[in-house]
Amino acid sequence: MRIVLMGPPGAGKGTLAERLVREFGFTHLSSGDIFRAERDGGSELGGKLAGYMDAGRLVPDEIVVEMMAKAVTGAAEGMMLDGFPRTVAQAEALDAQLAKVGKPLDAVVVMTVETDVIVGRICGRRACPACGRLYHVSFMPPRREGYCDDCADAKLILRSDDTEEVVRRRLEAYYGQTEPVIGYYRGRRSVKMIDVNGNGEAAEVAAKVIEALRSVSPEGLEGRERGDQA
Ligand code: AMP
Repeated sequence: MRIVLMGPPGAGKGTLAERLVREFGFTHLSSGDIFRAERDGGSELGGKLAGYMDAGRLVPDEIVVEMMAKAVTGAAEGMMLDGFPRTVAQAEALDAQLAKVGKPLDAVVVMTVETDVIVGRICGRRACPACGRLYHVSFMPPRREGYCDDCADAKLILRSDDTEEVVRRRLEAYYGQTEPVIGYYRGRRSVKMIDVNGNGEAAEVAAKVIEALRSVSPEGLEGRERGDQA
């Protein structure tokens, strides 16, 4: 099963993806995580990415499509795309690629959240630099303040683009360039659109999405559930 998660930064895509991956074993492909790894590796391409990311701007389509192509093809059996596609051109490139391997998209999850909630969430967000797990200082704190629950002694960090100024620019990019992608998918009969209000508790949001995904393709989820994985 192939699913795209859409929603503004801070909508809870990463948290939902973590949940679905834990439950069903999908491959989680986050373009933001892939780009951060390249940026932190210090390559020339990484330096280029940093310029866009730190300013809260979208990385140009040619770079994005090239960087995501291999990961997408490798995970086409069961994947959860998070943060990609972010423009209609990227969505078209993704379609073309999935058509080549005969594995079209099954569902698009669209999360909506109000701007004030988003800013509050993002500015309190912390990430583990070792495993990528996300926390929030108030809503989802780690057991030991400032440290990841899963990685001994990994100190949680505030992402460099999680400041209010940059978040507002990222939201502009979302509503200007990424929202049209939702319209692009709504025009498709073969893709199930799952709309979910992301204001609620993470567990509640995940339960709703899981229920909707089961109705899309019970066979796509069968055998992927934890416990059937071994
Ligand atoms: P995210 O972790 O998904 O919020 O992504 C962090 C940053 O990486 C974004 O603000 C963009 O600068 C860049 N980025 C991630 N995915 C994409 C994409 N599909 N297209 C363009 N830029 C992206």
